[in-house]
Amino acid sequence: MIGPSEAHSGRVLPVMRLVSPVPAFDAPILRLARWMQERYVAPLATVLGAITPPRVAGEETALPGPPPARPERIPVAAGPLGTYRGGPDGLSAIARGDAAFTIRPAPEDEQAVAVDAVAACVSAGRRAIVLVPEAVPVPATVTAIEEAFGDRVCRFLGGSARERYRRWLEIRAGHYDVVVGTRPAVFAPMGELGLVYVARESHGAHREDRAPYYHVREVALRRAVLGRATCVLAAACPTGEAAALQLPVVAPARRSWPVVEVVRPGSEGRAPRLVRSLREARRAFIYAPVPGYGVAQVCRSCGAPAACAACGGMLREEGGRVRCVVCDAEGVCANCGGRTFGIRRGGAERVEEWASRVTTVPVVRPARARLPKRSGEVVIGGADSVRDLGPGGLDLVALLDADAAARRPGLAARERSLAIWMEAVGWARPAGRAIVQSSHPGDPAVQALVRGNPDRFLEREAERRAAAGFPVGAPTFRVVGSDALAAAVARHDPITTLVSARDGRTVCLVVLSPDAVPGFGIEMRRLASEGVVERVEAEPHL
Ligand SMILES: [Zn+2]
Ligand SMILES: [Zn+2]
Repeated sequence: MIGPSEAHSGRVLPVMRLVSPVPAFDAPILRLARWMQERYVAPLATVLGAITPPRVAGEETALPGPPPARPERIPVAAGPLGTYRGGPDGLSAIARGDAAFTIRPAPEDEQAVAVDAVAACVSAGRRAIVLVPEAVPVPATVTAIEEAFGDRVCRFLGGSARERYRRWLEIRAGHYDVVVGTRPAVFAPMGELGLVYVARESHGAHREDRAPYYHVREVALRRAVLGRATCVLAAACPTGEAAALQLPVVAPARRSWPVVEVVRPGSEGRAPRLVRSLREARRAFIYAPVPGYGVAQVCRSCGAPAACAACGGMLREEGGRVRCVVCDAEGVCANCGGRTFGIRRGGAERVEEWASRVTTVPVVRPARARLPKRSGEVVIGGADSVRDLGPGGLDLVALLDADAAARRPGLAARERSLAIWMEAVGWARPAGRAIVQSSHPGDPAVQALVRGNPDRFLEREAERRAAAGFPVGAPTFRVVGSDALAAAVARHDPITTLVSARDGRTVCLVVLSPDAVPGFGIEMRRLASEGVVERVEAEPHL
């Protein structure tokens, strides 16, 4: 409970001590926190704890003074956004505030359209927050904004607790016009907020994996509404949740997508067409998300199917050694203790091996995400390699196994895969091509990749998810508690409830209509005080 003591009918104790001269939040941020408390069924104290960085008292001895005087306008050359379909409307909406739309940037424009959006906001005399999913390596969008706006930009990205708190105090004192950062930056204490821009909206890291389990997209939209700012969701392939909002779409006026060829995977996943293209390519990216060299199939000594002797898990050869993917034990046959296995090749190490024989340039699997060198290089990588690295300009992007996505478990697994593929394929702009290996060229995800447009795929996914009882946009909670939980949940008329038991506790996966969430939250809080509910997790990864 937070508020003036007159507003509270119960007993109120006097304030004992003022811990810090710096208020942790103001009235608008408290309104946002109250909304999060309701939306994510989280205690207000937990929400407020997530909103403010850990306090470092030493930084409060010399608080930042008023911001230095700056010129009124920063000249920023107009970029591509004004030429987009809906672009001029979008730019004037940003200058006005109080709107929301999505941008599907051409791959080579991703950073430049973010700069354009921020410029429209700042030149109207307001401030902007730009949210990126990752801190390392520093996203190209962050670098582009820093180059355009110089010391008016605060990089709220990683750093020590002391540095973060210092920057937070400076933001609060009004030193910056633009804050770029990961999730916590959505709470940056900025006045005169005109724009909240979410880059790579479909990235999984925009969801906070600890209480209060918020999603940056939702908080950004709400913060914009409360502050009369404009919210922009940018992604080549938005999430189903973002698409379901039916916001205006701003996109290139002309098709800006590489030529994408779909070929059937040849023997060991190498179509002749792919091999030929690789031979000619100077700069290429091969998407090979399976790590290691290959998977152990049979024991060479006794012929039994290969399985970990310790836990029965799958054995994989990686770096010349066979290990269990589950428990990491040395690969030993569960049947005879043998240590040599027949390996079904196919991991990224194997791809590196065969690609090196084909290409005329070096083939690498860098530990840290980066684009191929200008001098000519083929980079092999998985999902972790597909980052905001700037325009690619590659000759070739190859997706070796587009059918693998359909085999992955999880409700949103295919959507996640497509988003990553589209970001990777975009690196073939402006002059390169992409080759996708698939035995199902008519698959909606593969077709989305060919067209560079995920709309039909997202429609199909929405139908699939509705049929599975998890409609897109319906709030979902995972609640852990005692056996009384299931009956309590059923009273809220859920769209779907899946009840299971784990470690003697009842686990309910609950899908609700948005209107039912406030009542559900009040009930869950009451049940928590009675010991029936232990934990409520909003929007679990499904
Ligand atoms: Zn094992
Ligand atoms: Zn054996």
